[in-house]
Amino acid sequence: MTWSQSRTSPSSATARIVWPVAAVLLSLLALAVGGLVWTGQRTNELAADQQLATLSASLDTEKRQTLQRFARVVGTPAAVTALTHPISPRAAQAAIGEPLEQVLGFEASFVVTPENIVVTGRAGAEPADQRRFDARLHLLAPALAELRDKLGQLALRRDPIFTSGADPATVARKAGVSRLAFDGGMLRILVAVPMLGEQDDPTGGLVAVGIRPLSLASLREDILRGNYADLHIEEVTAGGPIAPWALPVLDGQSMMRATLVWRPVRPGDQVLERVLPSIVIALLAIGLFSAFMFAHVRFVTTDLVNREARATHLALHDPLSGLPNRSLFAARLDAALARLDDHTDGVAVLFIDLDRFKDVNDTHGHEAGDVLLRIVARRLTDALRGADLLARFGGDEFAIMQTHVRSAHDCAALAHRILEAMREPFDVGAANVMVGATIGIAIAPENGRERDTLMKLADQALYRAKNDGRNRYAFFQIGMDHALIMRQAVDEDLAAAIAANELRVHYQPQYSPDGRTILGVEALVRWPHPVHGMIPPSTFVPMAEERGLITQLSEWVLRQACRDGRHWPGISVAVNVSPIQFRQADFVARTAHIVDEEGMDPTRVELELTEGVIVDDADVAEHAMVELRSLGFRFALDDFGTGYSSLIYLRRFAFDKIKIDRSFLEAMETTGESAILVHSVVHLGRALGLTVTAEGVETAEQQRFLQAVGCHQLQGYLLSRPLPAAEIDAMLGVARSAERLSA
Ligand code: C2E
Ligand code: CA
Ligand code: CA
Repeated sequence: MTWSQSRTSPSSATARIVWPVAAVLLSLLALAVGGLVWTGQRTNELAADQQLATLSASLDTEKRQTLQRFARVVGTPAAVTALTHPISPRAAQAAIGEPLEQVLGFEASFVVTPENIVVTGRAGAEPADQRRFDARLHLLAPALAELRDKLGQLALRRDPIFTSGADPATVARKAGVSRLAFDGGMLRILVAVPMLGEQDDPTGGLVAVGIRPLSLASLREDILRGNYADLHIEEVTAGGPIAPWALPVLDGQSMMRATLVWRPVRPGDQVLERVLPSIVIALLAIGLFSAFMFAHVRFVTTDLVNREARATHLALHDPLSGLPNRSLFAARLDAALARLDDHTDGVAVLFIDLDRFKDVNDTHGHEAGDVLLRIVARRLTDALRGADLLARFGGDEFAIMQTHVRSAHDCAALAHRILEAMREPFDVGAANVMVGATIGIAIAPENGRERDTLMKLADQALYRAKNDGRNRYAFFQIGMDHALIMRQAVDEDLAAAIAANELRVHYQPQYSPDGRTILGVEALVRWPHPVHGMIPPSTFVPMAEERGLITQLSEWVLRQACRDGRHWPGISVAVNVSPIQFRQADFVARTAHIVDEEGMDPTRVELELTEGVIVDDADVAEHAMVELRSLGFRFALDDFGTGYSSLIYLRRFAFDKIKIDRSFLEAMETTGESAILVHSVVHLGRALGLTVTAEGVETAEQQRFLQAVGCHQLQGYLLSRPLPAAEIDAMLGVARSAERLSA
């Protein structure tokens, strides 16, 4: 399991899902808009083309009608006769010119010979002569040329027009030409028609020409019916741009002089305008949809990522304390060990076990236990420095990976801080409790570079520290391996050994200060293991406590001690009581029952309690003690001076005896202070009316000193080691009964 897993960021996941969808929608929309614009453009172009064609056709119609009207006037028999049979020019003008001007709006008209000699003419409502005609020739010449050319062509083909006897007006209309020209800033329609007698040579006859101005206003309104917005004429300057939809208009010399320009209708635009709101709405919808999708997908992915993170966190952390668990610890340790080289500082593994945590759980309940663990976690965290990592492995087991370790001093300093942090009482709600901690330390690279090795060695060191008396720390030392193997074996075999009666009880005599009289014995359990030899109680008693076997074990010892002790007249038999046992509700009843069953006098049974028993739950302890005392049992306070309690407890709890811990006598050898302490403890005990016993008396000097300060009883290797019952029998001069021998 790794602790750092690659995580999908919510935004990238969102981007992966939402943006493509939005992009596709937008592309579709863009395609639709593009298509629409293109179609609109095409529609506009077609409409413009259409307008251009219509304009051109309208102008053609206007030209044709002008020609027809002109032909009708000049082609009347009267007009032809007036011209072909010379009468007064005045009459010709009246027949032709006046109707043209007044009715049809011509500004000028002339009848000319093939040589362009004016036969008759009118301009500006007056008769016009050759000079006037010549002034207009530049305008009229192309029309005349075209007409003559056309007439020539018709004659060449012998067109029936000239032979079928059609009336002159029809001939004029059919053979005539009309042109549109731009001249003098204005549009003009020029018409030219032949004026033929019946046998006339079409090419050699007279020709009538007319000029009719075409005002923009009448073009717009009358001809185009206002359909061409902003219609106007643009003069074409040489090389200047020409509007794409402009209609070219030529001048007299057939040069493009001007164009007719207008604002073309744009139906495509109108369609687009009509569709535009829909497009905007669609865009908004897509935007909203994308935003919604984005938010939704983001929410979903964020949720997913969070869940994943939570799951990962749960998998790698202890739910109670929130600390990393064993897996994460292992992974981090691996990583730190992988970085280890000759130039970096070391890495240490500290295993921490709480002392008497089980007591707290048993006495105050699991909730109090949980509270305690959380406080411990906090205090341990506070004791860390820098990149150190604290983990909880479960139960009351914690572990620290200490980095930047330059020497064992760094580890010792941390261990001290931890022990110091544990010294304060813990408020677990129901009560203030005291727990200590025991710490085992292994250091890389000195003790090894492998995670498994380091953890195993730290565990061994922890085990060693526990054996040395808890509430302390120990570094791994070579040789601890053996202890660990042993512990495992013991762990596996203990239950079976108790059940199979494999345990033995030895008795250590307690003497009068002069060492001559045995006043009592202390029952001490032994385990002769078939493979590992004699295993000391310091190894397997704590284990029995952890495994829930302590009651079974203790009751077995008590029963055995009663069986052996009832034969030893007058002396007391001390039995050690585990704190866990003492807290059981039926402890009093069961103890009394066993003693009674074995026929032992309760007044000779001395129950040895350690201070831990009474400190943890004083009321329960006091209650049990009062009951047992009323049955005759006596109490000794064991290991006096090592625990947490004060002398106050001696007053409150009715002990009969205090047993000064062995460590005081050990220390006495080297320092004088300890001697003073022992002296005052003995003094105090006597003052309180208690029997004072000294444990671990190993030298004659110690004996002399204890005797001198007034100690009541002595126990130690100097006087006697713990011995099998048979040897106590012998020392007391008690004969072994047949019943006991067989037992
Ligand atoms: P303890 O109750 O303090 O027992 C006295 C220990 O001191 C015994 O160790 C004894 O062998 C040792 N001792 C006696 N005289 C001397 C001496 O002159 N020098 C030295 N160095 N040691 C001396 P043992 O038998 O190994 O027992 C260790 C502890 O195991 C006991 O300490 C007691 O706390 C526990 N224990 C032993 N038997 C039982 C039992 O039946 N039930 C319970 N609950 N605990 C037991
Ligand atoms: Ca004892
Ligand atoms: Ca003791």
